[in-house]
Amino acid sequence: MVLDAPGRPLRATADAAEREPGPGEVQVAVHACAVCRTDLHIVDGELAAPRLPLIPGHQVVGTVLAAGEGAEVDPGARVGIPWLGWTDGTCPYCRTGRENLCERARFTGLDVDGGYAERAVADARFCFPLLDGYGDLAAAPLLCAGLIGHRALRMTGDAERLGLYGFGASAHIVAQVARHQGRRVFAFTRADDTASQAFAREIGAEWAGDAMAPAPEALDAAIVFAPVGALVPAALRALAPGGVVVCAGIHMSDIPSFPYADLWHERAIRSVANLTRDDARELLALAPRVPVRTRVTTYALEDANDALGDLRAGRIEGAAVLVVDEHAASLP
Ligand SMILES: [Zn+2]
Ligand SMILES: [Zn+2]
Repeated sequence: MVLDAPGRPLRATADAAEREPGPGEVQVAVHACAVCRTDLHIVDGELAAPRLPLIPGHQVVGTVLAAGEGAEVDPGARVGIPWLGWTDGTCPYCRTGRENLCERARFTGLDVDGGYAERAVADARFCFPLLDGYGDLAAAPLLCAGLIGHRALRMTGDAERLGLYGFGASAHIVAQVARHQGRRVFAFTRADDTASQAFAREIGAEWAGDAMAPAPEALDAAIVFAPVGALVPAALRALAPGGVVVCAGIHMSDIPSFPYADLWHERAIRSVANLTRDDARELLALAPRVPVRTRVTTYALEDANDALGDLRAGRIEGAAVLVVDEHAASLP
């Protein structure tokens, strides 16, 4: 499924050139690829793709078909391909354990073709072996929704009262990890989104309600997943002194101004960008211990535009996943 130009639907094509793996790369037979809001930002042109046509998708699960010279992954291995596709390893960020901020980073489904396809090629050093306990469909949303959510959760420190603004793919995973860690979870959604509120309570939120109304009690931290700038001052107003608002998305509408008094008392606002490979190793080890159970809505690969449309309209409970190989991805 190819993006030719922003704002246009993805185009199904059978003749996208199939690339052989180069040195250090693997070619993967894709089983499933979860749909991320970032894909939507790219397709809608809110995030400029540096090259077109482009195959989106950066939560890719599949089996290695072929390995290029020096790639330390064996054919037959089941792997996940995440958003972070390549880093230089030499810039000041890479040298200080912050490869998520690499100056020359390349991202899957943005700088290099991603997983809305039957085949994908990736740098083997940025692929992750997947645990047997997770089927392809359950594992795919861990690769970005889970990873970015987990990194955002880490940025909240030991916050006990945690607000989640927007209850989609990331929040439904983070909520489970947070409950496992003994935190209290409060879910904030649109006032009339009673379906998401019920879903949040089912996942373990002790309260769910209107994001723009006062919070039921002060929060120690809030993570904003929804791409709505107005939620940032709303979340800030919900914080106890010393609390932090973590913005977890790659794009958001402008943040309205707010009185300095709302930030006073050492409240903070920060963003979380991308992931490191250590984040991935950490979450993939933690997920089965929680255990994280991902809720997925599946679509055939050729129905990717429907999946994106449902995500845009807020109609998806949990995560949308494109099923590329229905035989391989039949595990729950
Ligand atoms: Zn770097
Ligand atoms: Zn993503």
